[in-house]
Amino acid sequence: MSAAESGDLTVRSRGNSLKKTTSTDASAPTTGDASSQKPVVENGSTTAQDKKQKQKKEKPQKEKFVGKQEAKQGSGGGSAGGKGKKKMEGAALIGIDVAKEVDFPEWYQQVLLKGDMLDYYDISGCYILKPASQYIWDAIHAWFDIKIRAMGVKNCSFPLFVSEDVLNKEKSHIEGFAAEVAWVTHGGSTKLEKKIAIRPTSETVMYPYYAKWIQSYRDLPLKLNQWNSVVRWEFKHPQPFLRTREFHWQEGHTAHLTKEGADKEVLDILEHYATIYEELLAVPVMRGRKTDKERFAGGLYTTTVEGYIPATGRGIQGGTSHCLGQNFSKMFGITVQDPSAKEGEKKEPLFVWQNSWGLSTRVIGVMVMIHGDNRGLVLPPRVAEVQVAIVPVGITAKTSDDDRELLHKEIVGLAEVLRAVGVRVETDFREGYSPGYKFNDWELKGVPLRLEFGPGESQGHFVTAARRDLPQKESKSTIQITELNTAVPALLEQIQKDLYDRAKKAFDDHHKHITNWSDFVPSLNEKNVCLIPHCLTEECEDQIKDSSKRTAEEQSGVPQDEKAPSMGAKSLCIPFEQPAGIEKGVTKCLNPQCTRTAEAWCMFGRSY
Ligand SMILES: [Zn+2]
Repeated sequence: MSAAESGDLTVRSRGNSLKKTTSTDASAPTTGDASSQKPVVENGSTTAQDKKQKQKKEKPQKEKFVGKQEAKQGSGGGSAGGKGKKKMEGAALIGIDVAKEVDFPEWYQQVLLKGDMLDYYDISGCYILKPASQYIWDAIHAWFDIKIRAMGVKNCSFPLFVSEDVLNKEKSHIEGFAAEVAWVTHGGSTKLEKKIAIRPTSETVMYPYYAKWIQSYRDLPLKLNQWNSVVRWEFKHPQPFLRTREFHWQEGHTAHLTKEGADKEVLDILEHYATIYEELLAVPVMRGRKTDKERFAGGLYTTTVEGYIPATGRGIQGGTSHCLGQNFSKMFGITVQDPSAKEGEKKEPLFVWQNSWGLSTRVIGVMVMIHGDNRGLVLPPRVAEVQVAIVPVGITAKTSDDDRELLHKEIVGLAEVLRAVGVRVETDFREGYSPGYKFNDWELKGVPLRLEFGPGESQGHFVTAARRDLPQKESKSTIQITELNTAVPALLEQIQKDLYDRAKKAFDDHHKHITNWSDFVPSLNEKNVCLIPHCLTEECEDQIKDSSKRTAEEQSGVPQDEKAPSMGAKSLCIPFEQPAGIEKGVTKCLNPQCTRTAEAWCMFGRSY
């Protein structure tokens, strides 16, 4: 099982529980169930059964293509067509025409496409990251690289391909991936003697070389990371950034002499992940540990940052940092001599302690889902490629060419003032578009601040500023030109802070402490995640999942996104910050079917 699947798509449940749940539960991790997920992609050709599966599963994707065409028509001024009922009244033609509260999946897709973040590709589950989203990933990459280099981590690059023998070396590990491994079977028209896998993750790729490179305790710690993409040939409903067949991430793999060294690193990395969410993306997360049921297979323990999507009331795993213990070093024979052995003394070799940790482009999807609104993307200033757009206004048919040129010169001057203090700014001199069209366009793209500059502003020596993160009526203010170089950076920081504070309020308001079982499911249905006193056993988690599935009656009338209605709650994490109120050996586990006492407050929720 992937160590470093971590940041990403899901933490897979271990062993039997996995098989038990996947076939019936749409919320279950994306693996297992070989019966419905034929893995083998043989150089474009598939077996008849594969094709059938593919057609069935890929249908939603085709519908999405239609969505894209609609988007194009919309921007050309035509009717967006389709699902008339859901359309927002009076929505700008180039804008989002489905309300976030009404049809969340459709809204999400439109925001990404019309906000110019990504495009669909002709292979289902694969997406093109356009410059606006690649910029965000690059910003995270640059920030995180500095942090991990300071910890002694070095970047490297292992090959994309894995031989079948090596991939199969560790049975329980590969078990979790077998159904979604993509294989290369041909070179040109020549069939390969042995098929070659495309990495679903890199444990088996890297650890044989760790065994070779780590010869002495002096070679420790070994701390390597790679920025790469991996392939998991999923057949579940794909979702941009959240569930994709190829995805970009970083995967760190380290080896330590002592458990203490490994333990410390696990938490240091987790804190960096939390900081990426909180400080760069303005997204609050909860830090905690996974239960045994949800922890990374083969690992010793898993720590996690857990986000929350208010629009759907679902939790989302944001990134995970695992201590693998000595399990993998035993499998791969990664050992060193005991440094405490005296000259000539024979001591048993020590197995190294290993960690793995990963964060994927999923972070971008979480950010979009949380901040975006019915006018499109809302980007936090710290990761926005364009932080400020300056739009000329007040130019009419009567405006002379000289006056127009003068105004444009002034705007270029304003942009230079801002660039000099490090603000990423664009001037919008596009011909043939009205200011109103341009306003909508920058709003759709989530640019945090718009400055308007026309004859009135020029005469009064000020600019009109419009914040993207506030409702239109409250968004405007004026800034004196003499104060531009300090006021704009300050305003961008204020926007960053306000985005976080609003998201944090929604996060806090929807994390409920539940001490009566009868409140649990109603609270989930009100789009909350719930902290409950829990015994932390797997059996009890399974019972809670079953008993929190919605019944058909409950679903009636309430529009939900496609998965939520039938989904049971699973444990998201055991928060590091534990509220008071649990008396060990006295406080009961909240699940009425369970006779055990509570070990800790555990957060449960419906989740991605
Ligand atoms: Zn229990």
